[in-house]
Amino acid sequence: MKYVVLLLVLAVVYGVWRSQNRPSAPPRRPSPPRPPLPPPQDMVACQHCGLHLPRSEALTHGEHCYCCTEHQRRDAA
Ligand SMILES: [Zn+2]
Repeated sequence: MKYVVLLLVLAVVYGVWRSQNRPSAPPRRPSPPRPPLPPPQDMVACQHCGLHLPRSEALTHGEHCYCCTEHQRRDAA
């Protein structure tokens, strides 16, 4: 009978321990917020080869845009 009581106490203690531990378990966190995307860049096509590139990286010659100085020079010639 002594062991039955001991077992019962252990079972209760184990149950209490589990119920206390469960909430402290890390809940499934929502994925961290993504950093905001950079604003979409204006894309332009090279007047010579048609390569698309951001306007900020394009070389402009008047209204025309070029991907490199070589194409800018060839088209200007
Ligand atoms: Zn080009």
